[in-house]
Amino acid sequence: MTKTRVVVLGAGFGGLELTTMVSDALGEAADIVLIDKSDAFVFGFSKLEVMFGRQPAAAVRHPYRTIAKPGVRLVQTTVRAIDPAAKRVTTDAGTFEADVLVVALGADYDLAATPGLLEGGNEFYSVPGAERVRDVLATFQGGPAIVGVCGKSFKCPPAPSETSLLLHDFLTARGLRERSEISLVMPFGTPIPPSPDTSKAILQTFAERGIRFVGDAMIASLDPARKVAILADGREMPYALFLGVPVHRVPQVVVDSGLASGPYDWVPVNKQTLETKVPGVYAVGDVNGVGTPKAGVFAEGSARVVAAAIIAGVRGEPGPGPYRGLGSCYIEFGHGQVGRVDVEFLAGPKPTGTFQAPSEALVAEKTAFGSTRVARWF
Ligand SMILES: Cc1cc2nc3c(=O)[nH]c(=O)nc-3n(C[C@H](O)[C@H](O)[C@H](O)COP(=O)(O)OP(=O)(O)OC[C@H]3O[C@@H](n4cnc5c(N)ncnc54)[C@H](O)[C@@H]3O)c2cc1C
Repeated sequence: MTKTRVVVLGAGFGGLELTTMVSDALGEAADIVLIDKSDAFVFGFSKLEVMFGRQPAAAVRHPYRTIAKPGVRLVQTTVRAIDPAAKRVTTDAGTFEADVLVVALGADYDLAATPGLLEGGNEFYSVPGAERVRDVLATFQGGPAIVGVCGKSFKCPPAPSETSLLLHDFLTARGLRERSEISLVMPFGTPIPPSPDTSKAILQTFAERGIRFVGDAMIASLDPARKVAILADGREMPYALFLGVPVHRVPQVVVDSGLASGPYDWVPVNKQTLETKVPGVYAVGDVNGVGTPKAGVFAEGSARVVAAAIIAGVRGEPGPGPYRGLGSCYIEFGHGQVGRVDVEFLAGPKPTGTFQAPSEALVAEKTAFGSTRVARWF
């Protein structure tokens, strides 16, 4: 029997989960090629660990070379072109043909879209960016600090709030908090719009710790000479420290493939199956426009639906139920505590969320969330 050739582009949250699930179910009956340009996976939340000096960058890397799964070939190379109609992918390591093609290339950053960001401030959404922030924080002497979001659609909506709370702890521990103001600028009216309880708890904690929340606002540019951040509505805010969430964009190779119509138009998919307009070509995780937040848990959930469809297809069984857009996110509240929000995006008329108050027990649960994935994927 000929094997179904599955080519997975991107070994992030989505690609790793899909590959693991298909390999676990089908073993050598599968023929999976998993392609990533990087040599290691890093959890998004580990960037906070790195920037606040809680863990060195080397400690949060999970090298791909340890992956040994039946039916899976990992290729470390860069994807240069995708031909969806032919299900053919061109890489620096040659061409790959697929029966099922899964695009899980995540979101790229458009640093140039925010003039002054790199000259006058810092981004903390990449590992090198988080390492630079760690060094900047080591010499920071206090003053106005801004955590600022530069685009509407960005990974892990709780991350800017978490960063503000962890910055409060960091500056307090160094005796710099009295000399600093912390402001959070973000494009939503509340920190976590689908869960009013979570937003209320975060805003209450901000109030207790003297963090200013500037909602419904976005950073347009920085003026490094005047040390001023300029908001999209023209307001100006002075800063001594700027920690930015950069504008996110669809990877250019995906735009060039025609699967997305532009750099800010996330790949359209069937909301129930994650299939793109091309049959047999799926988009999972941050790269798609399914309507869930850009977060690992949603990438994983969408990957599981596609994996189940692939497994069912090979076995000749009925396909899985529809994707529901379910996800649980852990939220660093500072003071050594973690909260949790569970959100469901696609099952009802509007997203709904439930909140679990910050606790030390949830710190342990977040650690287990990471370690169980590492154990399964690697
Ligand atoms: C600071 C921060 C905190 C976060 N905290 C959380 C959290 O607590 N919980 C949570 O669920 N999510 C969190 N996230 C979000 C999470 O990291 C992402 O949403 C998730 O990784 C998306 O998964 P993905 O599979 O879509 O893409 P990714 O995990 O980004 O994977 C994409 C992969 O594609 C590869 N790639 C890209 N282009 C190419 C190419 N041309 N050729 C070859 N390979 C390529 C990349 O190397 C990468 O490995 C956080 C993110 C950040 C930045």
